[in-house]
Amino acid sequence: MTDKKFASQADLVVKKVSFDKLSDHAYAYTAEGDPNTGVVVGDDAVMVIDTQATPVMAQDVIRRIREVTDKPIRYVTLSHYHAVRVLGATGYKPEHVIASRDTYDLIVERGEADMKSEIERFPRLFQAVESVPGLTWPTIVFEKRMTLWMGKLRVEIMQLGRGHTKGDTVVWLPQERILFSGDLVEYDATPYTGDAYLTDWPATLDAIAALAPEKLVPGRGASLTTPAQVKKGLDGTRAFVTRMFGAVRDGARAGKDLRTVYKETYALLKPDFGHWVIFDHCLPFDVSRAYDEATQHKDPRIWTAARDKAMWEALEG
Ligand SMILES: [Zn+2]
Repeated sequence: MTDKKFASQADLVVKKVSFDKLSDHAYAYTAEGDPNTGVVVGDDAVMVIDTQATPVMAQDVIRRIREVTDKPIRYVTLSHYHAVRVLGATGYKPEHVIASRDTYDLIVERGEADMKSEIERFPRLFQAVESVPGLTWPTIVFEKRMTLWMGKLRVEIMQLGRGHTKGDTVVWLPQERILFSGDLVEYDATPYTGDAYLTDWPATLDAIAALAPEKLVPGRGASLTTPAQVKKGLDGTRAFVTRMFGAVRDGARAGKDLRTVYKETYALLKPDFGHWVIFDHCLPFDVSRAYDEATQHKDPRIWTAARDKAMWEALEG
């Protein structure tokens, strides 16, 4: 029997932050596998892509931005709805919060439940949680694709397909071939698939690869600064997603129950992926969603704090 503490409640080690310059217009705030924030510096304003979990945590991003530019932070773009990425938005005092229609719909449908669930899963990632004023509401909602000109800098904000969630949004700087992928791509970090569309995810990775990015900021993990590194990030994410879902689908088709499938999938993936951050945190959620998708739930079921704990007890207890 394992005795794993629920989700990431035992994860208390503070990570080291890097603020990488990818070009004159693009920066990445990364932290050894904690959620990343992207920064786009246009001619007249700044865009932040994913906000960190609280307005207090956003202040450290702002401090880094102010080391490279004094332009106003006018835009926040949400790569998807997850609390750990969006609840710091008010810290930037943006004029606009940009999200896809599908992300907006998810915030309406399950934002409140997700906020409560994520705060309990990752206490360390919600530093000064009392500074969160509530849900983050978009002020600009787009369908599939929008173009923003930040002066002469062209910024493409796009949904390339479903994967990590149904609302996944990437930010693409075509003039510089730099992509901010959100959690569609991870690097040395375990993909969380608890709200995913696993059947669709590989095709969405194909669409990212088709853009031929030269640099890519993943949702978690270090900035990828060469085409070879970008390929490694895409390949690693694809390998995890396809092997995990394949194993769960096979187990479900063979009539095995969720707990059995979880134990088998964990043992199968541990040797190749167990060193990626948050592996033990993600796997129970990942396998639960994969089992649902392979059986009777086309769309991800809403995680609540209570469902989180019941699932953890069933698989790890
Ligand atoms: Zn996410």
